[in-house]
Amino acid sequence: MKKTSDTWSQEIDARRDGLTSLRRDFHRHPELSFQEHRTSEIIAERLHAADLEVRAGIAGTGVVGVLRGDRPGRTIAWRADIDALPLTETLEAPFTSGTPGVMHACGHDGHTAIAITLAEILAARRAEMPGTAVLIFQPAEEILGGARPMIEAGVLDQPRVEEVYGLHLTTQMAAGTIMAHPGPNMASADAITVEVTGRGGHGAYPHLSVDPVTAAAHILIGLQHLVAKEVAAQETAVLSIGQILAGTKNNIIPASAIMRGTLRTFSDRVREQILSRLPAFAADMARAYRAEARVLPSDMSCPTVINHERETAFVRECAAAELGESAVGEGKPVMASDDMTYFLRERPGCYFRVGIAPADGHLAPHHAPGFEMNEDGLPAGLRVGLSVMLNALGR
Ligand SMILES: [Zn+2]
Ligand SMILES: [Zn+2]
Repeated sequence: MKKTSDTWSQEIDARRDGLTSLRRDFHRHPELSFQEHRTSEIIAERLHAADLEVRAGIAGTGVVGVLRGDRPGRTIAWRADIDALPLTETLEAPFTSGTPGVMHACGHDGHTAIAITLAEILAARRAEMPGTAVLIFQPAEEILGGARPMIEAGVLDQPRVEEVYGLHLTTQMAAGTIMAHPGPNMASADAITVEVTGRGGHGAYPHLSVDPVTAAAHILIGLQHLVAKEVAAQETAVLSIGQILAGTKNNIIPASAIMRGTLRTFSDRVREQILSRLPAFAADMARAYRAEARVLPSDMSCPTVINHERETAFVRECAAAELGESAVGEGKPVMASDDMTYFLRERPGCYFRVGIAPADGHLAPHHAPGFEMNEDGLPAGLRVGLSVMLNALGR
């Protein structure tokens, strides 16, 4: 794998400050899933200005830019997610979120800025660029809702994309390091809702009512054994209940109880096994306590992110040529989820991770109000992304 030539490198260096200020602008103006109107307007404006063919309003707030190079080559897509989270930021900086209750706490502001800059660099050197680059700006990753409607709208078919790549920034890795793990590398996610129905009554006379709280408590404990005793020990799965809703007063037995949780796995088979077993398991346990239980359809789910072997090795080669072997590795799969999985189920490709850990080593977890990005990781992500695109387009 050849390192990106000096002329391309100069384009990156020249845009370093612009990349940071673009990210800070998105950070200052975060927008929730499917409400990314300002964000997608800026994306479309910048792509238009760079002379890309632009389609906006895909799946609501999604944008796609198509750039045809002057040299023959393949058609390769780059996907970035653009939405923010419902959190109030605690970091104090000039670019802190200006919208109370909304915050870029997952790094999607960085993903968006990198993808725009990547498009602008390719466009500036279109004469040397082989093939056709398709830049996909996807809304609503945080609710796992944007990828499928974009694919259904044909973003991988017009023009026909051969491979798809993308990156996620992470504060769990040192700034400027790259991890690309082949195979399953991000967990599946399924929101689980169990509704337990009993018959309300006085807390002093439980024998005259059917107590859904007690039934729910036993189901909750039982769910852990569903994983421990029915999933093979070599496999992994986590089922956590994060929410229990029931009752109004200490001495009133309520009529119903609701539990909400999340299921995570690295295997389509294990995911299917647990999801299909869950309704009967909950119902049978409830019946032991004279209650009824049903599992409601999941409102948020997506399967495991699976990176393709060949394309993942290719990303690591590109990254090593750009940043040196010591900055690149396979890393370990993570329990977080991402609807990039749907793109990687349509086309071969790789979703890799780029470090943005704070330089002083303090924890800045994603999805937390104190999330903080080390912007020194952004140019490394851009550099590797550009190399991946150029090498894949011209392969
Ligand atoms: Zn996130
Ligand atoms: Zn994210």
